[in-house]
Amino acid sequence: MNIVLLGAPGAGKGTQAAKLVEEFNTPHISTGDMLRAAVAAGTELGLKAKSYMDAGDLVPDDVIIGLVTERLQEPDTANGFILDGFPRTSPQAVALDAELSKLGRPLDAALLIDVDPEVIVNRLTSRRMCRACGYIGTEADGPTCPKCGGEMYQRDDDNEATVRNRLDVYEKSTSPLIDYYRGCELLVTIDGDRDPNVVYADVKEALNL
Ligand code: ADP
Ligand code: ZN
Repeated sequence: MNIVLLGAPGAGKGTQAAKLVEEFNTPHISTGDMLRAAVAAGTELGLKAKSYMDAGDLVPDDVIIGLVTERLQEPDTANGFILDGFPRTSPQAVALDAELSKLGRPLDAALLIDVDPEVIVNRLTSRRMCRACGYIGTEADGPTCPKCGGEMYQRDDDNEATVRNRLDVYEKSTSPLIDYYRGCELLVTIDGDRDPNVVYADVKEALNL
């Protein structure tokens, strides 16, 4: 399966991707995770990306397109991939189409996980992540990860002001991709405002998995 996940920040793309990876072992290409790893490692890319990320703005298209294009050359993506957080702008979507047609590996679906923005502010400001295993949880998990015992932390961009900007950026730059993929007859919409396991059941049904 070659799929892209669409949806506002906090819609649950990462959570659904993690479930798909666990069950089907498909590579998960999360541009947010790749950028956070680059920031943590202090690479040139990380230094360039950090100020955009902290403000909730998008990293420039050329930077992110280069990153994803390189990742898609890795052999593990030949049998499928889940793109999460990319594309986020029209130029990114056009670049992705061009790259995938060059590779002869067209998309099977663009899966929109649909959640009301009101719900999102709450979700994101109470979200916590595990530094060790990447588990996505909430404040209620407390200071240690229920999966691996690692340290739970709050992402730098999960504060209310940055969350509101991320939602504005999503509306303006990313939501036009919904029509773009509808036009390509690839769009599948899932109601994301339900228990993650219920959402996942729908995701599998929609993808015929
Ligand atoms: P979320 O979906 O929760 O907002 P991500 O983890 O996907 O967060 O991304 C975090 C940040 O990384 C974004 O706010 C943005 O600054 C940057 N980023 C991630 N993917 C892209 C992309 N495709 N284009 C531009 N910037 C990106
Ligand atoms: Zn953990």
